[in-house]
Amino acid sequence: MTPSFPSSTPRQPALIPPGVVSGDTYRTLLAACRAGGYALPAVNVSSSTAANAVLAAARANRSDIVIQISAGGARFYAGQSLPDERQAQILGATALAQHVHLLARHHGVAVILHTDHANRPLLGWIDGLVEESRHHHDRTGQPLFSSHMLDLSTESVPDNIATAETLIRKLAPLGIGLEIELGMTGGEEDGIGTELHDHTDKASLYTSPHDVLTAWKTLSPLGMLSIAASFGNVHGVYAPGNVRLRPDILRESQTLVSETLRTGPNPVPLVFHGGSGSEENAIRQAVSHGVFKFNIDTDTQFAYARGVAQYMTEHEEAFAHQVSPNTGRPLKKYYDIRRWMGAGEASVIQRLTDSFLTLGARGRSIARPA
Ligand SMILES: [Zn+2]
Repeated sequence: MTPSFPSSTPRQPALIPPGVVSGDTYRTLLAACRAGGYALPAVNVSSSTAANAVLAAARANRSDIVIQISAGGARFYAGQSLPDERQAQILGATALAQHVHLLARHHGVAVILHTDHANRPLLGWIDGLVEESRHHHDRTGQPLFSSHMLDLSTESVPDNIATAETLIRKLAPLGIGLEIELGMTGGEEDGIGTELHDHTDKASLYTSPHDVLTAWKTLSPLGMLSIAASFGNVHGVYAPGNVRLRPDILRESQTLVSETLRTGPNPVPLVFHGGSGSEENAIRQAVSHGVFKFNIDTDTQFAYARGVAQYMTEHEEAFAHQVSPNTGRPLKKYYDIRRWMGAGEASVIQRLTDSFLTLGARGRSIARPA
């Protein structure tokens, strides 16, 4: 596949140190995406091995990256035996954040560390993480997370924006950004939302540009805001014909905001949810309308699983016997956890390499060691 993005940007983007971004470095990275007309893959992880695969992919492609975790993913990251679910969600996300803070800078790329879909019942999870960021900020001058997502897409727009306002006022002093959802991403992501076939109101899958303008006018003066505006996108991968993407809705939203508030082009940092399985043409159009973050979960999970499955098929004997019944040789080196997880990681790296190309992000990292 050939990327159809301009290969030269008007001027050299500002550089930032490798590692997790927040505050000014987060703003600089978003500005670079807008000026360069590219987007970053945002990959859900729920284990250190998945996080390492994402970091390796970013390094190999010389691209910056978004690593994100859901509440369910965080619970898994903490280990499945902790009895207090909320505590496990907070501890797991904190553990991932510490893991990425420690390693990211050694990969030489910038990382946006983010939490995915938090609906109203999950606000306590975000509050717990903001508290963790406060401690981290006191010690290091940096929050734990670059941004958090609030998903109140099932509520009225005024309720959604009012709660977002309370949250962004807490996040801004710590240099943490806020992503909100307007309109509704179809499908289900880690227990939030409903399966596509159960959607009765297809109109809710398309955001109103007026809602984007209202949210932007209210919230962007208070902190770093990004908006997941839906344009028919759906979590998960469905058979062809089920999903009709209308990236023109994103263009209309940007035009309404820029004309009303007299800004430059593409003023709103937009987020593309449910990127897995989407057509390349629609992805490129969406990116040209100011999408800087492209969520890809289902495809990378499948890539990891497929890599492991292929490895296991190739070395079937080693997953049934410790010593080969045919040759009498020990099979330990084949069933070694690092071998088959490593095959999963390699497969994720390969899948993300395609994504960096489609999004125009390959070779675009703005991170340089000081
Ligand atoms: Zn999503």
